[in-house]
Amino acid sequence: MKITFLGAAKTVTGSCFFVETASSKFLVDCGMFQGYSKNNALNEEDFPFNVEELDYIFLTHAHIDHSGRIPRLYIKGFEGEVIATKPTVELCAIMLPDSGHIQEFENEWTNRKRIRAGKPPVEPLYTYQDAVDCLKLFRKVSYDEVVKINDEIRVRFKDAGHILGSAIIEMWITERGEETKIVFSGDLGNRDMPILKDPSIIESADYLVIESTYGNRLHKERVNKAEHFLDLINATIEQGGNVIIPSFAVGRTQELIYELNKKKEVCDEKLKMLFATPVYIDSPMAISATEVFRNNLDCYDEEAREYIENGDNPLDFPGLQFTRTADESKALNERKESSIIISASGMCEAGRIKHHLKHNLWRKDSTIIFVGYQAEGTLGRRLLDGAKKVRLFGEEISVEARIEMIEGFSGHADKEGF
Ligand SMILES: [Zn+2]
Repeated sequence: MKITFLGAAKTVTGSCFFVETASSKFLVDCGMFQGYSKNNALNEEDFPFNVEELDYIFLTHAHIDHSGRIPRLYIKGFEGEVIATKPTVELCAIMLPDSGHIQEFENEWTNRKRIRAGKPPVEPLYTYQDAVDCLKLFRKVSYDEVVKINDEIRVRFKDAGHILGSAIIEMWITERGEETKIVFSGDLGNRDMPILKDPSIIESADYLVIESTYGNRLHKERVNKAEHFLDLINATIEQGGNVIIPSFAVGRTQELIYELNKKKEVCDEKLKMLFATPVYIDSPMAISATEVFRNNLDCYDEEAREYIENGDNPLDFPGLQFTRTADESKALNERKESSIIISASGMCEAGRIKHHLKHNLWRKDSTIIFVGYQAEGTLGRRLLDGAKKVRLFGEEISVEARIEMIEGFSGHADKEGF
């Protein structure tokens, strides 16, 4: 057996492992490189193996930095199976076509520039339709079940507690009568994450391939983050402004809904004010992803299941509203009363969040709360670094709003596993 590391060795993104055994070839994850523009070139590079010879992809979870190049593989001739847990397959059915949309959109923009520079246009990495088409290759498996893939390979997906559907993959590979166990950790979650179960304990392995996004960092303020979050919201509502939360559509948004829902039980003046304020989820992908969460209750931890057994939907509360259409989204900016708007993308590079920033960054009474990592080179990062002016839709916007970051609101385990 031979394992080649094809991504993520130095950059944070683009996870991909190529495994060759006596009679099979497969990948574990096939992620997209994200952030810097030089990473785009990495996404376009040819795969360093014969795509048509590839038998399987085992997918640890749906995040784009682990799944984002699967449609690319498909258009390059991959016809094997993509094997993942049921929630991962369902989340990919939302996230990959969305990624295709973004590819097409960015490609149009690139081509306009290229044509002006006298260069020939280029093709997008893949399209919305390519991503939809590749979904037929996906096969759902259950957690904790040993699945025989062929005479050589058996696999078991164990809960990784990172996002819904995330898995640590155990593999038993038999070559020339000898069995080897190899374990791929994928991204690992924290213990005591909202909604999700804690990461599974793996008893043994001959080889372990572990990913460590926050390997040399510790999360701060974990205990007080919800309190701090609430105080910021209240201070903003009191002065009549809006709270804008740029959020990753999958995982972070559902955690926020859950945390807010939990708070509603505590009878406190501050909370009364919070729950009198409408909360809008303004991202079609976040809405679809929330539905996937609601459809996979069996993957929840005990606390979240208790809410359900007591007749409470932990991903809903009075005052929570979902805006699907662009018109509904625009109407949010015409409201006079304060509101809390959770919208994607999390790093403010694309999506409806940009409109909400345009309407609120210049307002002294509004607050922008970041709840996730902001990569170098993104608008979110510039705001956190204290930019005084930013350009949005060709207009220069003065940054007067309060800019805050809640640290510790992260789906990755740090070096001590918290
Ligand atoms: Zn991840």
